[in-house]
Amino acid sequence: MSEQTIRSWQTPEWQKNREEFFKKNPWCIWHGEPVKATVPHHPQKLGSLSQTEYVSLKGCIPFCKECNWANMKKLKLCPVCKDNYFNPKRGKRKMCWNCFVKTDFGKVVADYYEKHPKELTLKKKNETSTEGRKMK
Ligand SMILES: [Zn+2]
Ligand SMILES: [Zn+2]
Repeated sequence: MSEQTIRSWQTPEWQKNREEFFKKNPWCIWHGEPVKATVPHHPQKLGSLSQTEYVSLKGCIPFCKECNWANMKKLKLCPVCKDNYFNPKRGKRKMCWNCFVKTDFGKVVADYYEKHPKELTLKKKNETSTEGRKMK
């Protein structure tokens, strides 16, 4: 988005809507209090909104800058520590790795990788090159 496109929808009306939006939704939806929301994020596809809908901030999600950035990268804030972001598609975890290894299942997984460190490295490097190698 260029500077100009940004300015084109920063109308007084948008400014006002934005102010009201943050009055109603002061905190980042993922972090919660006391992390202030600063970005009204449109969950809809960008092209699907009319200028009026866009300016009205209807259905927007209040994000802080970091969460908005993470959301664009398809990451989620860890609901346990609210400190780290994680990729929900990787390993189907619902929390960051640090919190995951503290759970019962996470302990088992971490323990396995600790005992098979080679497997983890090889898996990361190349999923297919483990054949023919003997690992203990
Ligand atoms: Zn946040
Ligand atoms: Zn965490």
